[in-house]
Amino acid sequence: MKTIKHWLNGEIWEGTSTRTSTVFNPALGTQQAEVLLASKADVDTVAAASRDAYELWSQSSLSQRTKVLFAFRELVNGHIDELAELITDEHGKVLSDAAGEIQRGLEVVEFACGIPTLLKGDYSDQVSTNVDTYSFREPLGVVSGITPFNFPVMVPMWMHPVAIACGNSFVLKPSERDPSASMLIAELWKRAGLPDGVFNVVHGDKEAVDAILDSPDIAAVSFVGSTPIARYIHERASATGKRVQALGGAKNHAIVLPDADIDFAAKHLVAAAFGSAGERCMAISAAVAVGSAGDSVVEAVTALAADVKVGSGRDTDNEMGPVVTAAARDRIVGLISTGERQGAKLTADGREVVIPGYESGYFVGPTVLDNVTTDMDVYREEIFGPVLAVLRAETVDEAIALINANPYGNGTAIFTSSGSAARKFQRGVKVGMIGINVPVPVPMAYYSFGGWKDSLFGDKHVHGPEGVSFYTRAKVVTARWPEEHHAADASYHFPTSK
Ligand code: NAD
Repeated sequence: MKTIKHWLNGEIWEGTSTRTSTVFNPALGTQQAEVLLASKADVDTVAAASRDAYELWSQSSLSQRTKVLFAFRELVNGHIDELAELITDEHGKVLSDAAGEIQRGLEVVEFACGIPTLLKGDYSDQVSTNVDTYSFREPLGVVSGITPFNFPVMVPMWMHPVAIACGNSFVLKPSERDPSASMLIAELWKRAGLPDGVFNVVHGDKEAVDAILDSPDIAAVSFVGSTPIARYIHERASATGKRVQALGGAKNHAIVLPDADIDFAAKHLVAAAFGSAGERCMAISAAVAVGSAGDSVVEAVTALAADVKVGSGRDTDNEMGPVVTAAARDRIVGLISTGERQGAKLTADGREVVIPGYESGYFVGPTVLDNVTTDMDVYREEIFGPVLAVLRAETVDEAIALINANPYGNGTAIFTSSGSAARKFQRGVKVGMIGINVPVPVPMAYYSFGGWKDSLFGDKHVHGPEGVSFYTRAKVVTARWPEEHHAADASYHFPTSK
């Protein structure tokens, strides 16, 4: 049995803990590896090494950092297929989808390649007679990323390229369910010329996470995962004085208005609901059909759901793979049954799907539930599986109010041909990322990604300008270079301009 170990100071590292967690192949439903789970002492060792590496890296020139980032970009680009296979084997998503997440991660690396421009400060000449003021930003120290299973390459890449470009060292604690891609990423950073210790990987569960949150050597934590854990991370990291951004779960709604192109909307709804088996924080899990759009939307998505090709992610014909674990499958199947019991109408049922040759795999087929209401579990819970709940509303205002009453606020979309309805929607919804005829509105790397309400704890979104701001802090200098001593200028009242 393969054992996946940690990465410390440019090498694979065993640590001291012998506790492990099982890494499955979700398509086969079998164990394929085990991963070490770090102890507090292991995390402390990694954090101390990262602190030492920070001392040197934070003094590196912008040109040195940029050279490493460009080299890293080329290396990741050259290993897309290998990374995608690691993702598919441990997560289950189809290879093209895995390659897509790497591409979106690469865009963050490309953004970070512009760090000399991103870190340019301000300068004000002559703010007072013979006095100038200027500002610049410095790195924080050791920063850490704690990441979820659903994007094992992209979500960490929302963080580490920007953090490292800013001069920090980085400790990644990836999901213990799909840890292998992070090890290849660590190797690629080393090959790109990043000094040893600037990027370390520590695998683990709650024990490792708590050690990160409590470590005096770690200055900031970026977290992405479920809402209860995000809330916990935010509270505990804040209590130990860390800067923290904690992105949580989601329930993303798409409104379909009667004036929309229903065929276009249905195709995009199905791709957004069932792509990656619904295990995306930006997946559409609730469609709100307005007025006369209702029946035609349900009819169209039900027909399309039946055509989705489900099977092993390694088979390039397939469009949707398994969900990540047997526990996830059982939970999703249970919620579908509860939805039916609570009065929803099942128009596409993926509970019994069996894939020939993969009978033990964790598969759930595309599922559509109509006549869902906001009190049902299938609506209130984040299902994180291939399940689309369809709700009905009479007007666009009613649909917007429904979205705003939901505790999550990650992403949302509207399908319409009306500019005024779209404008009302974009101004009215209390959600961080909005799509207009775009169902999965993940911002490009040079914008920042983040939700509102229970989808984000903290005040900074990830990557883009807010990422640079999160991983740095400002200094403002007020300077005077007297040509001769002006002792008479010294004053005991509060400094004001002259
Ligand atoms: P998760 O919350 O179970 O795990 C995320 C990380 O937290 C993992 O590294 C895990 O090891 C750690 N963790 C788990 N339980 C912990 C505990 N009790 N104490 C301390 N640490 C703990 O999330 P997941 O199942 O890996 O990922 C799916 C979730 O992530 C979904 O809710 C999804 O919406 C969310 N997500 C959100 C975004 C976003 O941008 N908002 C992006 C991707 C995923």
